[in-house]
Amino acid sequence: MTIESLIEKLSAPEAPSLYRTYWQGERNFSKLPHMTWETFVAAPLSDRLYSKEPYLTSVIERDGKRAVWAKTLSSIEQESYGKIGERPLVAAADLSRNVEFGTWCYGQGVLPLSAEQNPTVTAALAKRYGIDSVILTKDALPSLATLFARDSSPSTFRAIVLTGYAFGEYVTSFIRGNAKNTSVSLSLPETGVIAHACKDRLVSDLVFHAPESVRCETETTLVVTKLALLPIPIVRYDTGIHVRSLPAPCSCGKNGFTLTS
Ligand SMILES: [Zn+2]
Repeated sequence: MTIESLIEKLSAPEAPSLYRTYWQGERNFSKLPHMTWETFVAAPLSDRLYSKEPYLTSVIERDGKRAVWAKTLSSIEQESYGKIGERPLVAAADLSRNVEFGTWCYGQGVLPLSAEQNPTVTAALAKRYGIDSVILTKDALPSLATLFARDSSPSTFRAIVLTGYAFGEYVTSFIRGNAKNTSVSLSLPETGVIAHACKDRLVSDLVFHAPESVRCETETTLVVTKLALLPIPIVRYDTGIHVRSLPAPCSCGKNGFTLTS
């Protein structure tokens, strides 16, 4: 979907009011005001729900402010987490993301094992199930340390997909140690996948490249547009994540950005 057709759809008189209200008739992408988390929090779900399909709801909290969020089956299935094995373990720190990851796996035609609250139980089940890959949020990684450290050496995994932002020292060193079979995505619960870390550089640093379906503006904070009519569309959303553009194209040839603290 092009940015122009997305703006057109969201500006239509019959469309819900969220973007129409904020844009005040403006249709030039570079002049559209930035959305913030507060903008979403302030609007009732009915004003920002652009899909008539059945949807899953979850409550997302950012900076102490909560909003009810909606995702449809197709919006979850379209997420680009990359390649996953045939027997994945899904392990997000919160339940609704775990359901999302599981739903995404079903969409890829694979049946995942879902992590239990107790990491020892998870490790035992993972061994019995014979998992070959893991999809997890970075917050869930420390509790799974035993799984990666003990009898299931990371070399047995085909893909470990981490999503999140503000990767701390623990996660960063895990990524470095497992760079060969780890994929890292920058993803927020409200936006879904924003960008992927460059595979060529995982050992040294995290450099992110946006897929074609996402437009990232990277002046000081990361402003994201998803080029799809999501149940709750994301257009010029200021994520508040501090970033810096690469001064020159990455070694892989693409433009990219890094996270700054
Ligand atoms: Zn690159």
